[in-house]
Amino acid sequence: LPGPRTTVLEDADVAALLPEPGRESDKYSRGVVGVLAGSGQYPGAALLAVGGALRGGAGMVRYAGPDAVAATVRSRWPETIAGPSVAEVGRVQAWTVGSGLGDGRGADVAAAVGAGLPVLVDADGLRSLPDRFAGPALLTPHAGELARLLGVERAEIEARRLHHARAAAGRWNATVLLKGTTTLVVAPDGRVRVNSTGTSALAAAGTGDVLAGLAGSLLAAGLEPLDAGSVAAYVHGLAGQRAAAAGGYPSAGDVLQQLPAVLGSLRQA
Ligand code: AMP
Ligand code: MG
Repeated sequence: LPGPRTTVLEDADVAALLPEPGRESDKYSRGVVGVLAGSGQYPGAALLAVGGALRGGAGMVRYAGPDAVAATVRSRWPETIAGPSVAEVGRVQAWTVGSGLGDGRGADVAAAVGAGLPVLVDADGLRSLPDRFAGPALLTPHAGELARLLGVERAEIEARRLHHARAAAGRWNATVLLKGTTTLVVAPDGRVRVNSTGTSALAAAGTGDVLAGLAGSLLAAGLEPLDAGSVAAYVHGLAGQRAAAAGGYPSAGDVLQQLPAVLGSLRQA
């Protein structure tokens, strides 16, 4: 997006950024996403992140993780290609790393980050950051995760969200998507996007994993981290609104299910 350094996202901004598969597209040009997420303890995070990537428009998803989790992933998403580690899963165009990963996978996180491809780092992956990113990177902490990263209290983050998101973006040379009621997406060059489509219906386990997969698919499609994070946050918020409109309390899976409808209506906007 051209124009001012701070943009409050609206339909037209996001519609203009959405990747549009054309007649000549194939699965590689749509983007191959590597997903390093989930664990024996949190297999659902892998399902939701892979689902977010597929529904976000990825041409292919390659899942790196233990066989048991991979089997769970494939039972829901049989189109997924799996391998035991980042090094063995095959070529991808972007990595989504960290959702529900648990501890002890730092070497795999480092391999994904070190691949030199666009990379999204979420949740437990944020425990294994490099000193500074050399290539395109998108970090997706909530306030608690950003507090841990910066070594400050969570209340301090909440009191000065933009300030601390900016500080982290500069410190790691990465775009920082700070999740919350209003989500801020801050690039290391100082550009800021504000997303207000979110809803408290998203305050449920697993919604962040959907966002990570969705944003990863946009990185793999070639969007720069600031645009990928902006589009993902906006679309994810609208999916939460649609899921909530159905009544009751939507689960993360319900939010995921709304992604096609949201993308369809934005394309017509
Ligand atoms: P996580 O904290 O990783 O579980 O991710 C939660 C997701 O839900 C993020 O995308 C948040 O921005 C969103 N979210 C959680 N609570 C709210 C809320 N009260 N209003 C808007 N979005 C929310
Ligand atoms: Mg999370």
